[in-house]
Amino acid sequence: MIAVDPGHGGDDGGVIHGGVLEKDVNLQVSLHLAAGLERLGARVVMTRTGDDGPFTDPRTSLNLRLYRARQGEAQIFVSVHANSYPDSSQFGAQTFYHPSSVEGRRLALLVQEELVRLQPENYREALAADYYVLRNSQVPAALVEVGFLSNPDDRRKLVDPAYQARLGEAVARAIVRYFQGDVPEHRPTVTRPGPPPGFIQEIYPPEVR
Ligand SMILES: [Zn+2]
Repeated sequence: MIAVDPGHGGDDGGVIHGGVLEKDVNLQVSLHLAAGLERLGARVVMTRTGDDGPFTDPRTSLNLRLYRARQGEAQIFVSVHANSYPDSSQFGAQTFYHPSSVEGRRLALLVQEELVRLQPENYREALAADYYVLRNSQVPAALVEVGFLSNPDDRRKLVDPAYQARLGEAVARAIVRYFQGDVPEHRPTVTRPGPPPGFIQEIYPPEVR
């Protein structure tokens, strides 16, 4: 059983750029991810399937997501988000894992590898991060930022249903590889100008990280 967690929802729209709400992108990509996994024979528990949930308190919302995953006896937890940054030139999907989880790291690296196949100009690498759902998941977990809504090119793709489907399929392929015991390919570190690739800005306020 695989837990798919579309980030935000209800009153919590996540980041907003150009009239696009992150929560909507997250849900569409997650639905494609779930469908892709089911086509490949996996069973899926989603933490939300519509624009719903108790979102008055972010931590309650995050705990409910983890609870639903546990109730579904999920073996891994994959949270889907979209990123934002003040510098609109920043682009590219990026996957995060908790530094204490060896298997979470393997999962995140496989997801990142499949996402870079979809967007070859993306130089970002999977990174460790101490985020709430990663830290508190009892099973290996990855948090996927599928692109930057603050970047016009990424945003145009993220609202395209065909691209949303390709994103979902890419993450599904990575998850299948994870369960096959696949090891990510080594990617040499590439030094790039500009802000370090390791930021994640949009997610939750500091008190719930
Ligand atoms: Zn988010």
